[in-house]
Amino acid sequence: MSSDIVEMARNSGIVGAGGAGFPTHIKLSAKVDTYIVNAAECEPLLRVDQQLMVAFPEKLVNGLQLGMKATGAKRGIIAVKRKYKAAIKKLKQVIKTDSRLEILLLDDVYPAGDEHVLVYEALGKIIPESGLPLDIGVVVNNVYTLINLSEASEGKSIVSRYVTITGAVKNPTTMDFPIGTSIKDAIKAAGGATIDNYGILINGPMMGKAIDPKEAITKLTSGIIVLPKDHFVLKMKNERISSKVIVTKAACIRCQLCTEVCPRFLLGHELYPDKVMRGIAWGAPERPEYMTGTFLCVECGACTYYGCPMGLDPCKMMTEVKEQLRAEGLKNSHNRKVLSIHPEREYRKLPVKRLISRLDLISYNHDCPIQKRKMQVRQVSIPLKQHIGDPAIPIVKVGETVEKGALIGKIPDGSLGAVIHASISGIIRHIGQEIVIEKTK
Ligand code: SF4
Ligand code: SF4
Repeated sequence: MSSDIVEMARNSGIVGAGGAGFPTHIKLSAKVDTYIVNAAECEPLLRVDQQLMVAFPEKLVNGLQLGMKATGAKRGIIAVKRKYKAAIKKLKQVIKTDSRLEILLLDDVYPAGDEHVLVYEALGKIIPESGLPLDIGVVVNNVYTLINLSEASEGKSIVSRYVTITGAVKNPTTMDFPIGTSIKDAIKAAGGATIDNYGILINGPMMGKAIDPKEAITKLTSGIIVLPKDHFVLKMKNERISSKVIVTKAACIRCQLCTEVCPRFLLGHELYPDKVMRGIAWGAPERPEYMTGTFLCVECGACTYYGCPMGLDPCKMMTEVKEQLRAEGLKNSHNRKVLSIHPEREYRKLPVKRLISRLDLISYNHDCPIQKRKMQVRQVSIPLKQHIGDPAIPIVKVGETVEKGALIGKIPDGSLGAVIHASISGIIRHIGQEIVIEKTK
C-alpha cells in the first residue's frame, strides 16, 4: 500500500540526499503523474551519484518503482547526463522489464540538476516562480534518496552514506562513512591532505560551503573537497560580506553578464542579479521588486563563478539581500506563472568542462574510485538537524548503550522533520545539538 511506503520512508529517516534535506515521506504523500530521478550530478568534482548508479542500479530502479507506487505516478524518468555511459548501460538493462520507465539523456551543463531546469528539460514544462515540481504533477528525487528508499524496504535505516573525498588528498576516493564521522577522519581515510595549509569545501564548489574539519558527515554530505587555503573558490566563500559590498561599489561594471547566465532568469523568472548589485552599489534599488526578486534565487553560483568578469559575488549578495528581507518580515510575493523561456536559453547553458577551468579546478578533477568497504570509526557526532524542518528530539540519555540502527531521535509532534538512528554501536557520551556515540568494543 502507498501509505506503507510513506511510513517506511518516515521510519527510516530518509531525506533528500542531494543537498536539500527535505523529508522524503512528505514528498511520497503527494499524488503525481510523473516521477523524475535527478541523476544529473552537476557539481564539479563530485562522483558519488554516478558511481552509485553503476554499483546499485537495481536498488535505484526499485526505489523509483516504490516512489511511483506511493505517489501513483504512471511515468518514471531517469534524467542522467549522457556522459555517464557506464551508469546508462546498467540502468538500461534493469529498466527493460518495466515499460513505464525511460532514460532521459542530459547535456553536460551546469546546473542540469536544478529541479526547475530538470523538469523543463524532461517535460518542456515551466514550474511557476517559487513553485515546486509538485505544482505541475511531478516529484523529483535524487539518486541516493531512491537507493535509500529501496534499502528501507529491506528494513534498513539511514546510518551511513557514500561520500566523495577529493581535491588535494593522497587517494581521492568515494567511501561509505557512518553518519556523524568527522570530516577530519574522512580526509584521513583518503590518505590525508597533500598540502599543509588547506581549507575544506563540502558538497561542491558551486553550491557547497567552506567548513571546519571538526564538523561531521550528515545525511546530506555528498562530497568533501580539500583545496589550498588561498584557492580562489575558498577565498570567495570565506570573504566577509562587508568587503564584498565595498568591492561591488567599486568594481561592478553593470555588464549584466550575471543575469544573462542565470538559469532561473533564462527560464523566464523575474530575477536580475545585476540590478541587485546596482541597488547595492547605489545604496537604493531602482525598483523594490528587483530586491524582492532575490527570493527566486536558488544560490546556484552561476552568476558568480561563470558570469561575472570582475570577480564579484552576486550569488552571495542575492542570498544576503534575501535573508535581510526575511529578517524584516517580508514575504515572497513572486509566484507568477511563467509563459515562456528566454529565447537564447539554449545557447547560454554552461558547459561543466569550461566551468571547471574557470574555477581553476582542472588539477583536482580526479576519478575517485569507489570502495565498497565501510569506514570504521571510534566516535560519531550525529546532528539532530540534518534536514529541512525542526531538529529531532533525543529519546536516549547520556551513558545509555545503543546498538547500530537504534532510533535515537524522533520528529517533534506535529512538526516537519526526520528521525535519526545510531550509526555505530556504543555509549552515548553527550547530547547537545548533536548526539555523540563512542564505540565500546
Ligand atoms: S545564484 Fe545567481 S545565477 Fe544562480 S539563481 Fe541566483 S541569481 Fe541566478
Ligand atoms: S557580471 Fe559582475 S560586473 Fe557585470 S553586472 Fe554582474 S556583478 Fe556587475
